[in-house]
Amino acid sequence: MTKKSVRNPQVLLVFEPVLSDNTSLERSFAKELLTIGASLSARVNLPLNGLLLTSEQVGEEARDAFYSDCQASGMQELMEIGICENAGVGSWVEALSCAVRETSPELILFASSAFSSYAAAVLAGELGAKVHTETTRWQIHDQRHLYLERHVLAGSVCVKELAGTLGERVDAKAPILAVLSRSLLLEEPSLLEEKAEDRLQIVRSKWEKEGKTIQLISREPLLRQDVRLEEASIVVAGGRGLGGPEGFKLLKELAELLGGEVAASKQAVNLGWISAEHQVGQTGAKIRADLYIACGISGSIQHKAGIRGAKCIVAINTDPKAAIFQVADYGVVADIYDVVPAMIKKLKKQSRR
Ligand SMILES: Cc1cc2nc3c(=O)[nH]c(=O)nc-3n(C[C@H](O)[C@H](O)[C@H](O)COP(=O)(O)OP(=O)(O)OC[C@H]3O[C@@H](n4cnc5c(N)ncnc54)[C@H](O)[C@@H]3O)c2cc1C
Repeated sequence: MTKKSVRNPQVLLVFEPVLSDNTSLERSFAKELLTIGASLSARVNLPLNGLLLTSEQVGEEARDAFYSDCQASGMQELMEIGICENAGVGSWVEALSCAVRETSPELILFASSAFSSYAAAVLAGELGAKVHTETTRWQIHDQRHLYLERHVLAGSVCVKELAGTLGERVDAKAPILAVLSRSLLLEEPSLLEEKAEDRLQIVRSKWEKEGKTIQLISREPLLRQDVRLEEASIVVAGGRGLGGPEGFKLLKELAELLGGEVAASKQAVNLGWISAEHQVGQTGAKIRADLYIACGISGSIQHKAGIRGAKCIVAINTDPKAAIFQVADYGVVADIYDVVPAMIKKLKKQSRR
């Protein structure tokens, strides 16, 4: 593959690598990324292309569903690069970097994930570009100026900046790289509709080199539950006030009765009482639940950064001065071990009726 010094006027969507299971395409915000890519590229009148790293293990059904979503988004070309699962993330990022250098897009969009944060950072280093991380909003002014927004200082300040001018970047040294936050991805309703016209071209290639930067030494299964706190309508969260991991069994029971998910403060995660994907806050999930119940959580600024989107906040805390009460719609000054079992009892009684 050869290097090009000019940018191609196109928007490139980089999808999360899909290696084996049939569901990962759905779970990795591919549809949401396509929806945003489709509306953004239409606003600036640039072609939309995609790049997918994938392995042979992925089933036909999952592929076909993804291709029809790509087609519905108006995508023109999908580069599908076959990768070896065992080659490791270093090799996949090298494949991605090589394809990006070859196509020289003006704008590259990723959906927020551990892989995309790493890949975007590596690409930015190689291409001398800036990465716009955790983008919460995008705007186009005068059909070509792209403005991106993100929240800083634990979500208390919103920064809006001109990322670049699209359609005029043919001589630009570096593309614009943006990682879209989960909250932005979830905000965009999936508006993809079946299109009769088949414009999508799929260009397949293979990447078989071993990664130079990161190599796979061993593989251990990660015992994680499939938690998507951002999408839950009811979230019951516990903090250090629970006093130990057993408290989460109680919260799980309450969450199940309410049809919700269990979440936690960073302190509870750090203490090893619950796994990290349950964390809410600045460095965790940003929820948009209809109901958020905070149990034994003090309400630090970092925690509050994750619950701003909740419609109704209920706080249970023994300390009447706890900061969580400043943002709570309903506050209960009491011990959670008195309140939560009483709630469970009441809900069970109601469900028996
Ligand atoms: C860079 C950075 C990023 C961070 N990111 C996050 C983040 O994403 N999410 C996050 O949560 N934190 C984050 N933190 C940590 C944050 O600053 C706080 O330390 C943390 O939120 C506190 O967790 P907590 O409320 O569970 O514990 P504590 O602050 O110790 O509060 C425990 C609360 O439980 C109450 N309590 C005790 N016993 C009971 C009982 N029996 N019944 C009822 N109430 C009781 C107490 O009154 C107290 O208010 C971050 C910090 C930094 C520096």
